[in-house]
Amino acid sequence: MRCLVLSDIHANLAALEAVLKDAKRRRLSYDMVWCLGDVVGYGPDPNACIELLRTVPHVCLAGNHDWAVLGKLELTAFHENAMVVALWTREQLTAENLNYLRARSARELQERYLLAHASPREPIWEYILDTSVAAENFEHLPDGYALVGHTHVPVIFAQDRASGDVRASVPPLGIPIALDSGFRYILNPGGVGQPRDGDPRAAYALLDTEKHTWTQYRAEYPVHLTQAKMRAAGFPDTLIDRLSYGR
Ligand code: ZN
Repeated sequence: MRCLVLSDIHANLAALEAVLKDAKRRRLSYDMVWCLGDVVGYGPDPNACIELLRTVPHVCLAGNHDWAVLGKLELTAFHENAMVVALWTREQLTAENLNYLRARSARELQERYLLAHASPREPIWEYILDTSVAAENFEHLPDGYALVGHTHVPVIFAQDRASGDVRASVPPLGIPIALDSGFRYILNPGGVGQPRDGDPRAAYALLDTEKHTWTQYRAEYPVHLTQAKMRAAGFPDTLIDRLSYGR
């Protein structure tokens, strides 16, 4: 199976549309979209993003922002800016879309891949930002493969099955990386709607579960369109500005 792996759309419709268009332009064929959560929060188009995602065959997890909007997390655990938009989002979402989010789980197994929003052991909150946290999480993988989001930074953590050593690497764009059976992997496609690696382009990846390859892509999108909607909705400036820098 070929899966388009997306995460952290964050209600950024222009970015989500650009990713689907970019995949089409590159003639990437895929059977499913696997979305790793945080469909909403931060951005101005929560309903439209859920509705666009639902037009394609997909699996979607819940992330911490989705839970915050649903009231499943204490908003006090959030930065004030994120809290403001979570409350706004709660008011905007249709009953049907709220039900859709409510039905998502934070972690699920698809084939040999454990999908988790944040980390295999703490699917809602834990950031896997370095090899030591990755190493602890490799102990929670049934078959040695996980897909995570949450950090909004594309990265591959690979653990040598023999030595236990863990390495992190940033995947090159457009070049399939062969997933070696001698390693365990935690793969993060980066963020669609609010990238944080200094590249403002929307990030996504293609996973081929038969050929066992992972390919990273970036798609440019009209950032100013999303920013104009955020401004019109009265969102905090820092959330608007960061999209220009990918931070
Ligand atoms: Zn997120």
